[in-house]
Amino acid sequence: MLFDLESLVRPNVRAMKPYSSARDEFEGEARVMLDANENSLGSAGPERFNRYPDPHQRAVKAALAPLKGVATEQIFLGNGSDEAIDLLVRLTCVPGQDSILILPPTYGMYEVAANLNDVAVERLPLTADFQLSSEIVAQVNASQAKLVFICSPNNPTGNLLHAEAVEEILRGFGGLVIVDEAYADFTTALSWTTRLAEFPNLVVMQTFSKAWGLAGLRLGMAFASPEIISYLNKIKPPYNISEATQQHALAALQDAERFEAMRTELLKGRDWLAERLPAVSIVKEVFPSDANFLLARFRPDATAVYDYLLEKGIVVRNRTTQPGCAGCLRLTVGSPEENDALLAALQQYEG
Ligand SMILES: *Cc1c(COP(=O)(O)O)cnc(C)c1O
Repeated sequence: MLFDLESLVRPNVRAMKPYSSARDEFEGEARVMLDANENSLGSAGPERFNRYPDPHQRAVKAALAPLKGVATEQIFLGNGSDEAIDLLVRLTCVPGQDSILILPPTYGMYEVAANLNDVAVERLPLTADFQLSSEIVAQVNASQAKLVFICSPNNPTGNLLHAEAVEEILRGFGGLVIVDEAYADFTTALSWTTRLAEFPNLVVMQTFSKAWGLAGLRLGMAFASPEIISYLNKIKPPYNISEATQQHALAALQDAERFEAMRTELLKGRDWLAERLPAVSIVKEVFPSDANFLLARFRPDATAVYDYLLEKGIVVRNRTTQPGCAGCLRLTVGSPEENDALLAALQQYEG
């Protein structure tokens, strides 16, 4: 499959001139800054945020590049992964004409971004054990969709998709292949970022929302070729990552110790729950997880269990209506005390 980015990008996006911000036209510090209609007096509130942030987030990318083993030109930062998903759809799909491809059960935002942009959604359900089969791979590769979203480890199922199958899609699919690695920090599998040089059609997404513990900050990452990244930069809102977010992300990246400690603790919690849940009488099945959650199948009535947990003040995610997930609840790994409370509540259930 010969990959041609230009032919995938929407004609209007190819032709448009991006917004040129004040911080694009003048970089750096001047003695008197009167070019951006900012307030030179300062800011209301306790901290100073009177200047527009770096539209290219150079400091954050410089800290991130060595950590991720990519060049700064291969990094896009978004207001959550959600922004990257939306921009990828808008970069490639002509509304009312083009489509994206998803592999249910999977993360709901791909479909929402497509719906918002009047882009059709093709669905190829995963197998009963939530995997890609050679039939599914063949159907993906035969599709005319502009994008395929591959979530691995997958949400809500928790499993990694077979790397050989993903590789076949990377070699055979005509559009962009987005591998969503929101849960990459919870698996020992190699990130697809290590394969970027081989596949010009590959986009890898990761996030600060999970293992970094910064869901409230809204910071997502996309890694791809410099060509794809520069198109994403062309169409993003100029100041999409706030100064507060950039400062906080930099501080977080310098706190790798805390990140590692939390990650280790969450993995321990996952193992602890995965070991004990199968022995609970109402638990029919616990699916293997490479993420910070466990998908479990309950009997006889998962929604009754969901309601029961809610009454006990424990909220989990009811996934019973997702394709292939009948009877399933998605349980996020919490603190040791929360995991304890969840397990005890399930053990006490009398349906
Ligand atoms: C949690 C999650 C994300 C993260 O989204 P953010 O917008 O970065 O918070 C992305 N993809 C999947 C599959 C997720 O489960």
